[in-house]
Amino acid sequence: MRQGSPRFVGETWPVMSDEPAQAVVKEIPPKAADLSAWYTAVCLKAELVSYSPVRGCVVLRPYGFALWEKLQQHLDARFKQTGHENAYFPLFIPANLLQREAEHVEGFAPEVAWVTRGGGEELTEPLAIRPTSEAIIGVMYAKWIQSYRDLPILINQWANVVRWEKATRPFLRTMEFLWQEGHTAHASAEEARKETLTILDLYRDFAENVAGVPVYAGPKSAGERFPGAVETFAIEALMPDGKALQSGTSHDLGQNFAKAYDIKFVDSDSAIKFVHTTSWGVSWRMLGGLIMVHGDDRGLRLPPKMAPLEAVLIPIVRTNDDRAVAACQATAERLAAAGFRVRLDARDEQPGWKYSEWDVRGVPVRIEIGPRDVESGTAVLVRRDRQKGDPEQRRSVALRDVESNLRELLDDVAASLYRDAKRFLDEHTIATSDRAEFFELCRNRAGMVDIAWCNRPECEAHVKAATTATSRVLRPLEGSAVCTACGEPAQVRAYFAQSY
Ligand SMILES: [Zn+2]
Repeated sequence: MRQGSPRFVGETWPVMSDEPAQAVVKEIPPKAADLSAWYTAVCLKAELVSYSPVRGCVVLRPYGFALWEKLQQHLDARFKQTGHENAYFPLFIPANLLQREAEHVEGFAPEVAWVTRGGGEELTEPLAIRPTSEAIIGVMYAKWIQSYRDLPILINQWANVVRWEKATRPFLRTMEFLWQEGHTAHASAEEARKETLTILDLYRDFAENVAGVPVYAGPKSAGERFPGAVETFAIEALMPDGKALQSGTSHDLGQNFAKAYDIKFVDSDSAIKFVHTTSWGVSWRMLGGLIMVHGDDRGLRLPPKMAPLEAVLIPIVRTNDDRAVAACQATAERLAAAGFRVRLDARDEQPGWKYSEWDVRGVPVRIEIGPRDVESGTAVLVRRDRQKGDPEQRRSVALRDVESNLRELLDDVAASLYRDAKRFLDEHTIATSDRAEFFELCRNRAGMVDIAWCNRPECEAHVKAATTATSRVLRPLEGSAVCTACGEPAQVRAYFAQSY
């Protein structure tokens, strides 16, 4: 193992990974000792999710849903800025429709749930519960598109999908999950490719600048491609246990789905042509990624733009003195009027108890006002991202300047969380041209292992069998080299890693 490289955090997820024995979490175990146990405990204790009586399905509690809504707001605004509109398609897909695109069907077959009875009768044609919506949307596009004047169609859908899963891991692996799926149709291959790349960059920008999660973006290998796609692009993040998390995908579907679903148009030259389609998606998996990347032993650390609450105000109350509560109330109102997402916690509890509760929930800044602050016209701002003893963790500010201080602090927290995550990714991205070292790094979950690669499915299958790692994304090769994994001529550079 190379000097200064990767410390592994945690072991692989337990095989039996349904509801934890301890449904009520008293303490969060240290993140470094067992990432899996830490992750589950944080998701439950922060009240993001609850396990449900339905195996494989979790309940998104209000705080978890608020986090999902932040993701929706940011992505939705970006989709609309780039010309997309939202629509909604049926949850059920008749069997014959799903079966039209051969590769697509084969790729999804093991994961599809079927409805065979309804209204007390056997159905004449089973209905699939959508694992993704290319089929149903393709059929509709065939009806809507006649002329080149009808193109492009740029539609997004916010929806739930179902893929049969045996294990449950909140946000990362559930049978039913929330996502968005974009589906577009274009007159030319160039336009479809441009759309695919526009979305890939939109996802990268969201991951890095909103969720604070640095990613590698690029094309996937043939073996990792979406079933039925000509080319799949993805953003890949690195988790603290050295495994990659595919966090968003954008597919250039070429004319494969247009041919399967008969989506044709009369072009400006009067010729009848098939359209070129794309599809792309981000799911609540992205939330799992940001929880793992940023969280610490006290719980969540939310990047401010994703945080349902940017600051919580806690009065330090003495008996028979409620001036601190009044000052907090007035400050909360001012901050809300200035556009901040804040909450006053005036519950009858010890301040320390409240601190740890909001710490678990990852609120980026805590504002404390006590009787002495009331007298001096100050407040103490405490950053969630810093640990006790850090001189930058707390700062006392004049109440009249609280807005500007909070704004500055939130920007600083966002930058600092991203910087830490980027450092981790950089430190755990290891280039090697040594075959034995490559296999060892992959096996040991060292992170993103960067090699010159032949881009052959047989080579990838061999690496996967030997190490369980696969290529995550590819990028151009400069100059010539041989494949680190097999010795054949290299075509690309690739990041290899084990993955979720
Ligand atoms: Zn090779």
